Amino acid sequence: MDTQAIQIMTYVLIGGTALFFLVRYLGSKPKQCEVCGMDTKDLYNDASGKLVRLCRTHLIERWKSDVLSSSHKMVVIEPDVEDQNHAMGYLYGSVEQLGEWQYGKEAQRKMSDYLLSIDGKKCEECNMTATTAFIKKGDYSIPLMEKITATPTYLCTPCVVKKVGPILFASQHIFYEGVYAPTNEDGVYHSQEY
Ligand SMILES: [Zn+2]
Ligand SMILES: [Zn+2]
Repeated sequence: MDTQAIQIMTYVLIGGTALFFLVRYLGSKPKQCEVCGMDTKDLYNDASGKLVRLCRTHLIERWKSDVLSSSHKMVVIEPDVEDQNHAMGYLYGSVEQLGEWQYGKEAQRKMSDYLLSIDGKKCEECNMTATTAFIKKGDYSIPLMEKITATPTYLCTPCVVKKVGPILFASQHIFYEGVYAPTNEDGVYHSQEY
């Protein structure tokens, strides 16, 4: 190999490395909240699946209002915001959707049973009609759906929002995967499993 070829290869290598870091830098740059323009990396996944860039305040505000306006039954698994892997998204999906996300039959059956168990229950906080089955973080050791055996706390939608909103708000992690809006069907709120 002659000197010129080595020189060209060196330039290509340096150029490639510089480009790699530039792309990484640009990729990690915060974007602006669509409501207030503040820099943020958090994302909201609206009911149509569109990702909306929102600062933490507007993210939680939007999530609360979308959940409060839903009339569907939900299993709400408390988000584990201390676990690095489980804190990047707070996903909502129907039992069928869970299957598409590769959750096994056992996990789907368990969530379906929890959803059915909500019927006829009263909110344990305010005695209104319960619409959600809330699973506390401390009530399961391994956050795998099929391993959850806890008896849920039955809550109405405003009471569950009051519990979960502040936990999501205080999370130290960035919601790269997005906090999800509830879709137009009964479903399960859960942190992502890996
Ligand atoms: Zn904002
Ligand atoms: Zn209530």
